[in-house]
Amino acid sequence: MLAINNIHKCFGKQEVLKGVDLTIDKGDVVVILGPSGSGKTTLLRCINFLEQADQGEARFGDEQVNLSTASKKQIYSLRQKTAFVFQNYNLFNNKTALENVTEGLIIGRKVPKATAVQIAKAELDKVGLSDKYDAYPSQLSGGQQQRVGIARALALNPDIILFDEPTSALDPELVGEVLSVMKTIAREGTTMLVVTHEMSFAKEVANRVIFMDGGMIVEEGTPKEIFEHPKEERTQQFLKRVL
Ligand code: ATP
Repeated sequence: MLAINNIHKCFGKQEVLKGVDLTIDKGDVVVILGPSGSGKTTLLRCINFLEQADQGEARFGDEQVNLSTASKKQIYSLRQKTAFVFQNYNLFNNKTALENVTEGLIIGRKVPKATAVQIAKAELDKVGLSDKYDAYPSQLSGGQQQRVGIARALALNPDIILFDEPTSALDPELVGEVLSVMKTIAREGTTMLVVTHEMSFAKEVANRVIFMDGGMIVEEGTPKEIFEHPKEERTQQFLKRVL
């Protein structure tokens, strides 16, 4: 469904992605693990054109695009297929939970307002926020704000949702509610690419785990392969530190 080939990205002289290849099939839940600074977030951002890669190709379904030279039209078209869940939620503070979810539908997807409201309410219900339609972000906990972020992504009905460390800005007691929503939507068949430090989520929910270090994929496999029988020294060292 999504195939990424040979992504390179530099910030100044620092080469942050050094030729990453990645394939994601429909229904996959792929977790990317790796030490801080290994390029995980940059990889997600390049896939969604939030950063422009210096080199690399992507194929989404039958659409092939060069990530460094994509036209505005190609970027628009490919963005329709993905949705992004940000570490810091990225909600509009002057809009209610409901408006945060309808905004992308009405403005980005040209969905009529009444339909957008219907879709948004269904997605907010799904993430357990049926009593918070009219609340502003400042009136919500971090966990609730992130669940609005997830409802907003689901509402767009994308082929794949990209999660960038969705729980790392949360107080520990709020992590569980967000992971629980992510588990539910994973089990419903949502295709997900997730950068996270939550090893329990990777073990329980992912069907594939990728370990990145130094801008490259060092190793990938099933959770069992990566957590119980990592082949590469760098993976072993990382897991020793975090488990
Ligand atoms: P973490 O787990 O800490 O979020 P990461 O693996 O997601 O790390 P990235 O956020 O992709 O890593 O960053 C990789 C490297 O690129 C880091 O050294 C970071 O400082 C650098 N970097 C990321 N974004 C930018 C930017 N916009 N400008 C300059 N350097 C950047």
